[in-house]
Amino acid sequence: MTVLHVKGRVLVGPDDVRDEMWVVGGRITFERPTSLAVDATLEGWVLPGLVDAHCHVGIDEHGAVDAQTSERQAVTDRDAGALLLRDAGSAADTRWIDGREDLPRLIRAGRHLARPKRYIRNYAHEIEPGDLTAYVVQEARRGDGWVKLVGDWIDRDQGDLAPLWPLDALKEAIAAAHAEGARVTAHCFAENSLPDLIEAGIDCIEHATGLTEALIPTFAEKGVAIVPTLVNIATFDGIAAQAEAKFPVYAAHMRAMHTDRYATVRAAYDAGIPIYVGTDAGGSLPHGLVADEVAEFVKAGIPPRDALSAACWSARKWLGREAIAEGAPADVVVYPADPRGDVTILAHPTAVVLRGRVVAG
Ligand SMILES: [Zn+2]
Repeated sequence: MTVLHVKGRVLVGPDDVRDEMWVVGGRITFERPTSLAVDATLEGWVLPGLVDAHCHVGIDEHGAVDAQTSERQAVTDRDAGALLLRDAGSAADTRWIDGREDLPRLIRAGRHLARPKRYIRNYAHEIEPGDLTAYVVQEARRGDGWVKLVGDWIDRDQGDLAPLWPLDALKEAIAAAHAEGARVTAHCFAENSLPDLIEAGIDCIEHATGLTEALIPTFAEKGVAIVPTLVNIATFDGIAAQAEAKFPVYAAHMRAMHTDRYATVRAAYDAGIPIYVGTDAGGSLPHGLVADEVAEFVKAGIPPRDALSAACWSARKWLGREAIAEGAPADVVVYPADPRGDVTILAHPTAVVLRGRVVAG
């Protein structure tokens, strides 16, 4: 049995710091093992494995990819310290990853649910509102406790973003997901898709660039989380430039939301809306960007300690996974300096420990 001694500053919580811990049989203990030899010692600032709460393993910009490519994506996230990925929709069957001790843990949302021609080609089950509930139940059973809807997308006839689903279809589908024990999240760029999703009982909104002042108190009151994916929103200007000639209203809309992105995130944070770090890796963005997204949170005005928590302690709690605790699975990352004051250190892990094994560094 491999025994690791991890010492320095072990960040059990943002304000709960211990001097050392051990890893025995893949699990964390604060009690020094007496009868076993220590195989390796790691030293530094120790965090629970980072969480990328919006990631896609198994797709690229054209749709599903092969297992080798999926593996490369997962390894890139792992080596960046992201050991728990909430997969926000994948067209590939990545269930085999669960059997791989060396790859990050996945919490799947099944496959995206969208309407025909109202999302990126090859990504979603493209269905009509009358079939939404049946597909939500199907994806809830295939996923790991989440279902992913596309809440809005460009409507080429309207020349702007528009909601995909009528309110009654959403109400029935979200209730059905909840009955299956799954939470529901939705891709939303625009403002006008949010009120119906909130009324229908949605649990989380991805991107949330359309979160207006009028809606913020409702999100806060209902505890609806957001995963802004600021590293993705950074590409809105480029999307707008490409769309400009054919869809000028849409382009202007995307630019305005891009301009307001930091103020939107900061206002949500100030109102107490739960916010989590997600990169949207896997579509057009590369994997391994978790540190960049935390840095974007700080740029938006979120205090570094809370930006950090949104990628580890609070994110793990939200997803129902342990952090650093007696008996918890040993998924931790070691850094050379205190990440609570300076989150840029997250880009430079010195060791990554997954299921008790040093897998990088
Ligand atoms: Zn996404």
